[in-house]
Amino acid sequence: MATMIAARVHKYGEPMQLDRIPVPEPRSTDVLVEVKACGIVPNLARVVSNFFGSAPDPKAMPPLPAIFGLDPTGVITKVGDQVRAIRPGERVYVNPARSCGSCRMCRSGQVLDCPNFTFQGYFGRSQEIMRAYPYGGFAQFITAPATALVRLPDNVSFEAAARLGYFGTAYAAMKKLGVGPGHSLLINGISGTLGLCAALLALAMGATKILGTGRNAALLERVKALAPERIDVFAMTDAPGGGQPDSFVSSLVSWAKAATDGYGVDGMIDCLPPGAPASAMMRALHTLRRGGRAVNVGAVMEVLPLNAFWLMTNRIGLQGSVWFTTGEGEEMAAMAGAGTLNLSVLKHRVSPLSQVNEAIAGMGDRDGGFTNFVVDPTRVD
Ligand SMILES: [Zn+2]
Repeated sequence: MATMIAARVHKYGEPMQLDRIPVPEPRSTDVLVEVKACGIVPNLARVVSNFFGSAPDPKAMPPLPAIFGLDPTGVITKVGDQVRAIRPGERVYVNPARSCGSCRMCRSGQVLDCPNFTFQGYFGRSQEIMRAYPYGGFAQFITAPATALVRLPDNVSFEAAARLGYFGTAYAAMKKLGVGPGHSLLINGISGTLGLCAALLALAMGATKILGTGRNAALLERVKALAPERIDVFAMTDAPGGGQPDSFVSSLVSWAKAATDGYGVDGMIDCLPPGAPASAMMRALHTLRRGGRAVNVGAVMEVLPLNAFWLMTNRIGLQGSVWFTTGEGEEMAAMAGAGTLNLSVLKHRVSPLSQVNEAIAGMGDRDGGFTNFVVDPTRVD
């Protein structure tokens, strides 16, 4: 029997161990992918550890021992007997979004709205789906449904494509906002991992004016340098004792209005990291023009002090968004292949599978969204 190396969590709060396990056989509608790179999301450290003093909710977590790894890319080595249009040898990104396939939402093509939505290699709402697809990208081979595959153009590297989870999260949100020619967009948290992806996509999608907030002035300047004629940045600084003074909100709003002929922005995408206060999202909402729309893909967990009357009288829309469809993944791959989506600004930090614990622990040291953390499962040295 063929075997492979996989990094597995045997107990939450303890490091992953390298184990030798059988290479899985793809079912009829599945494929087997030899993983060449897998992105690491910063939140993974919190998910697999007792970092915040409490174990993860067991109902939402895969059965142990578990293989994590959310953003795998690689080469197809085998296909099931019902897989027809994709063949061994093709380079792919595996969209980890799994759904039940037969509920009303799945049958109507809205797979992200499946009540059993589950991330392969991460966590989710269905133990049954996690047992059916137990292989995350921190293993040398994974099985996945053929419907999950995004074909990669030859000029898109495995390392860059391992970032597609973040790009896709931003992209699905920005499609909901209608980002395109003539559109102005404020990216709240533009220099972070999600925010930088949003900025690169906004450039690719033809947004005319891209405004961004952030806390690190040097990183903000690097983002602005991507397209100085279209990107403007606003550095937020902490008020003493936490929170933000009202005058700070008004200076952000005046700046956004000045950049948009006095109207305010057409759209706002919130990309704030975990731990950001509600006030940081609220002030960005106030940069919207009358009739403007916001989509939240950030991680603000505080309750928003949101005035429903203000929403109504100003015709403001606010929506949440999670992840992206395989079709949206194909669109991004096409943009990257054509060069309109510029992935060359990412600085890959690649670790062998044998260093996966150190790689996860070392993610605090990064140049905002410019650093791309990747594990290479072909290396177990
Ligand atoms: Zn379903």
